[in-house]
Amino acid sequence: MKTKGNLVVLGSINADHILNLEHFPTPGETVTGHEYQVAFGGKGANQAVAAGRSGADIAFIACVGDDDTGSRVCKQLISDKIDTSPISTIKYASTGVALIFVNSAGENVIGIHAGANGALTPELVAEQNQKIAQASALLMQLESPLESVLAAAKIAHQNKTKVVLNPAPACELSDELLGLVDMITPNETEAEKLTGVRVENDDDAAKAALVLHDKGIETVIITLGSRGVWLSEKGKGLRVPGFKVKAVDTIAAGDTFNGALVTALLEDKPMNEAIRFAHAAAAIAVTRKGAQPSVPWRHEIDEFLQ
Ligand code: ADP
Repeated sequence: MKTKGNLVVLGSINADHILNLEHFPTPGETVTGHEYQVAFGGKGANQAVAAGRSGADIAFIACVGDDDTGSRVCKQLISDKIDTSPISTIKYASTGVALIFVNSAGENVIGIHAGANGALTPELVAEQNQKIAQASALLMQLESPLESVLAAAKIAHQNKTKVVLNPAPACELSDELLGLVDMITPNETEAEKLTGVRVENDDDAAKAALVLHDKGIETVIITLGSRGVWLSEKGKGLRVPGFKVKAVDTIAAGDTFNGALVTALLEDKPMNEAIRFAHAAAAIAVTRKGAQPSVPWRHEIDEFLQ
């Protein structure tokens, strides 16, 4: 990574509508919920917020609809210290939506409407050429059209901007895209999807990481939930454990980890210290409910680490 640099995040914005109910409705059934909450989410926005709150100089490339939610999300992102000038408002589109049912066992089922997120075309990405070219790092996920993720990765690669990919949600990816990635951060499911290696222990994680190195990726970080991460650099791997906390909701754990990790690396922290910082941010997030409401600010992470 270039030192003390700025970050561009490219990704999705959603309004999460979360309904807690006793059990999931079966076809034809109506179930009355007991708690309802609307919170901002979307993997791109969550990671941008995590970076902004943990102290990064960050700009966010994304799309919102021409609706009230879109303008409220943008106001919120500004208060999270994010440069929202690369966010496009798409006429006649609605801002992305996630409808989330949570049952009494804490399980969830989620339906997503991509809405304006689907309008983040390679042409819109090209308009942000300068931002990407001047950044030190570009952080992306897979809730945006794949051809746009590829277009942004190409611009970054040509301009020596480090490409960090959080390959979520799980999806098979072309060797062309993977070949442009400098650092990848799958969870166990995503690592299996990309490599065919089922990740159940450290040895499996090491094997999966080698497959990703073979695709040309220098740094592989496989997140392992409460067990921390498997870090593999140039084929040398080790597990970096996370922090023990009482988790109440792991929504956005990975997003918080990613945003905080890249922030710390851009501050020129060594990799193990950057991972520790990201573990702390994610550990705080899992002790709180919701996506963006759970993401900690810098002073909270620093206090946690003292
Ligand atoms: P995702 O949310 O993308 O599935 P993981 O579940 O692997 O990602 O978690 C990402 C990171 O969040 C972990 O590496 C760790 O830092 C933190 N984390 C997740 N679950 C817990 C937990 N129960 N306790 C403490 N930290 C956690």
